[in-house]
Amino acid sequence: MNRFDSVHNLAKRKIRQLGLTPPINMEEVIHSLNIEIVEKRNQYGIEAYSELGDNLRIVINPEMTYYVQRRNFTLAHELGHIFIPWHNGDIKCNFKDNYVKVGGKRLLDTQELEANIFASDFLMPQEWLLSEIENNRDIPFDKLVELIARRANTSIMACFYALERVLPSGYCYFVKRDTSEWWSFFTSRNTYTVNWFSYNEDRMKFFQNLSIKKELFRIGPYEIVLYKMISCPSKMELCNEMERNGGSIETLIDSITGGYRHRILPFLDVVLEAVTNDKYIAFVFQDDDLIKSFYSEKSPLLRIYGAMGYEEIREIVTLYGFDFQSIDLENSMVLLYISEKKFEMPRYTYTNPNILLRQICDYHGYDKRMLQSVNGVMAAANSAYGKEYSDEELYNWCKYKFIVDPYYEELVADRNFDKYIVNKIISMKLKRK
Ligand SMILES: [Zn+2]
Repeated sequence: MNRFDSVHNLAKRKIRQLGLTPPINMEEVIHSLNIEIVEKRNQYGIEAYSELGDNLRIVINPEMTYYVQRRNFTLAHELGHIFIPWHNGDIKCNFKDNYVKVGGKRLLDTQELEANIFASDFLMPQEWLLSEIENNRDIPFDKLVELIARRANTSIMACFYALERVLPSGYCYFVKRDTSEWWSFFTSRNTYTVNWFSYNEDRMKFFQNLSIKKELFRIGPYEIVLYKMISCPSKMELCNEMERNGGSIETLIDSITGGYRHRILPFLDVVLEAVTNDKYIAFVFQDDDLIKSFYSEKSPLLRIYGAMGYEEIREIVTLYGFDFQSIDLENSMVLLYISEKKFEMPRYTYTNPNILLRQICDYHGYDKRMLQSVNGVMAAANSAYGKEYSDEELYNWCKYKFIVDPYYEELVADRNFDKYIVNKIISMKLKRK
């Protein structure tokens, strides 16, 4: 469980303990907890801060918390600092966004974000929010936000955070305050899980291309761009569809996207992870450049294929008889999905692997550099995975390592080389014991 999950659970627990339902009057809650609220102006533009020493105190700036909703959210945020066990000292709060400027860089301020998550969950508990959404299914997004803000007696910004958690798959929205130059980005569950771009501006363009519908709203000082995306089916639905179509990822993607295949990109990882029983590795190429890879854990192919181009990879998987699917995703993008082949480890009568390797290298006219290189690969595999992997897994790891590197092409084609790998694994294992 990560820190954010802990904060969600904490808010849920506190709401239950205190027996609260929206609208929640924070002023009353805080007084009932015997925490002092002090009103104090300051000239630094600090809206509120918490003193988390022996005497718990919340200090708020009345000039900046004039509106009841704003004040309610601010107080819930401060209560978050008080309840979250790893927040301590005096915390001065920045309500503009969750970033701080350090040495000219924008860094995420985790404590502020956590306090916002707490406040949001506290004022708008998940079950309550779900029923509000269900009861108001047909109203536009901005009306939904306003309605929730009103019923929960909280700020509009708080609603954006809260809705992200409970909306079904398919919602992405960007929000910007008039006074800010930054867009905050929100996405409902299983909607945008692959990070294709690191900047918001790029991300907007990305959604522009992939969305089903774009809507613009304004609520008070907030500008909102809502992108409605296709929704990601549940794991069970994905598996059923995959079974129906006989294991074709291409058909699966067509059925999810209605033929607009590139719309799968935002949650491609969720789909691949859901339908894969075997180990796999998948690459997305655009104009022959590798732009993303997905893989199951412990895959022997992991770091190896990355450096290759589309054609090279295809050649190798064809040569060694891997199952693979190559799927056109439009916009000159291709998904290459490879099910990993497991090589069975052959049995041989024991031969000294070092003598064997020298013979093989001599036969092909290699000098001791090749010998050292091969030994280096085996030793590295042994020290990295020797204890953790079975003989078979180690054999597969080494085998992959050699077959995907053109440097070893000639050796790999030699039937005795396999015998060398097996004997080397056995001798390394004996030495470990
Ligand atoms: Zn704060």
